[in-house]
Amino acid sequence: MDCLFCKIIKREIPADIVFEDEHVLAFNDINPQAPTHILIIPKQHIATLNDIEEADLALVGRLQFTAARLAQERGFADDGYRVVMNCNDQGGQTVYHIHMHLMGGRRFTWPAG
Ligand code: 5GP
Ligand code: ZN
Repeated sequence: MDCLFCKIIKREIPADIVFEDEHVLAFNDINPQAPTHILIIPKQHIATLNDIEEADLALVGRLQFTAARLAQERGFADDGYRVVMNCNDQGGQTVYHIHMHLMGGRRFTWPAG
């Protein structure tokens, strides 16, 4: 399958990996939008948020859990941070393997542009 993030999981493409367990992989975004900008992905290929099934719910929770743990580890959990998941074209999704953006280390505004 021609999926960039599956290739990162299989180590066919290099990435700056910051966390890995049996179910998820986390690595620094190549084009960071904040002092910390980490992508957290399931090892299972799921193309978009629309493709999540009931059997995947624990996995999706694990993405959020990993984000919170990484924020705590990096010391900005109490100050605050932002997590984002983009879905399909109008949502700004460019890589079709679901991923959670964890961004921290600066102030974010809302609503986002
Ligand atoms: P999306 O726009 O789909 O929500 O987010 C995709 C993210 O993947 C973008 O923030 C982009 O910078 C990042 N990205 C794209 N290609 C690569 C890559 O080869 N390596 C890494 N580490 N990040 C990538
Ligand atoms: Zn994939």
